[in-house]
Amino acid sequence: MKSETVSVDIERVKVSRIQQVDFKNVAFGTVFTDHMLVCEYKEGAWQIPRILPYQPLSLAPSARVFHYGQAVFEGMKAYKDESGMVWLFRPEENFRRLNLSAKRLAIPELPEELFFEGLKALLHLDGEWIQKGVGNSLYVRPFIIATQPSVMASAANSYQFIIICSPVQSYYTKPIRLKIAEHYSRAANGGIGFAKAAANYAAQFYPTQLAAEEGFQQVLWTDADTHEYLEEAGTMNVFFRIEGVLITAPANDRILDGVTRKSVLALAEEAGIAVSVRSVMVDEIIMACEKGTLLEVFGSGTAAVISPVSALGYKNKVYEIPVCSNPYAERFKKAILDIQYNLADDAFGWRYKV
Ligand SMILES: *Cc1c(COP(=O)(O)O)cnc(C)c1O
Repeated sequence: MKSETVSVDIERVKVSRIQQVDFKNVAFGTVFTDHMLVCEYKEGAWQIPRILPYQPLSLAPSARVFHYGQAVFEGMKAYKDESGMVWLFRPEENFRRLNLSAKRLAIPELPEELFFEGLKALLHLDGEWIQKGVGNSLYVRPFIIATQPSVMASAANSYQFIIICSPVQSYYTKPIRLKIAEHYSRAANGGIGFAKAAANYAAQFYPTQLAAEEGFQQVLWTDADTHEYLEEAGTMNVFFRIEGVLITAPANDRILDGVTRKSVLALAEEAGIAVSVRSVMVDEIIMACEKGTLLEVFGSGTAAVISPVSALGYKNKVYEIPVCSNPYAERFKKAILDIQYNLADDAFGWRYKV
């Protein structure tokens, strides 16, 4: 396959595994398509990307990614419309953010054509793995790891950029319960909270386990200094609706600038909903909940699009959030899905044809 600037070497599988997949019963992120894209960085340059059968990697045990966590990733989805055309949703944003994350982790940035030509070639090859029907999609996971075989604690001189793809099914997302962080922190000023850096997630697992023991699915992170301001959840940005106003914290050093978050903000403004992007105090949200003016809380992220929140845990109390009528959560979810599946006009130019 050739493009104007980037060629992709392709080695196809001998036999596809697609017949063995029960698409209606795949657990999220457990089944992968026939192929993967691999591109090495060495001698100061990204090399020719290759598409290979999906297979284990061979890395030295001393590869730096294993010791220092020098790794970044992205998460996006490909969708198939009723006519069989395949679409991505705002992939330029994922590309831009991958390089932003890479830069912060001292990883060499990827050329744009390499990312897009590699991604498109892979999706063309494994297009059959994308099922039609709203909710069904192919989760696309690009990532970069430091491969230099040396345990010296400094930035590596060799890397691999890899894309793997996993079919995901339409699933009903139960409202989730969030525990407000009072002790642990996810990110600090000047740190890597804004990056999709592997280490951010490893650091969340233990506090999330503790929250799970109390019946919460995720931690709602607060600022590291005072724990008085709400920031975001594990893999989602968070919105609060107090009466008619939709509130979310501003994207900054500590908060990941979600593509879904941006899209919700744009849709809300277009719909004439009052939006307030500002610091959100824990006390303000708890008080609104007690007064009954906190009508909704929801998370936004690529995996579930919008996840309604049914309870907040704080200082050994649980604040239930009653289901409201005509929730914004449903409205935004539908609007975004309709654009993603080519069921509605794309006034913002968010769809990207593969
Ligand atoms: C990926 C992610 C999000 C959501 O970003 P989207 O681009 O909307 O998928 C939010 N917070 C964190 C920490 C994330 O890693």
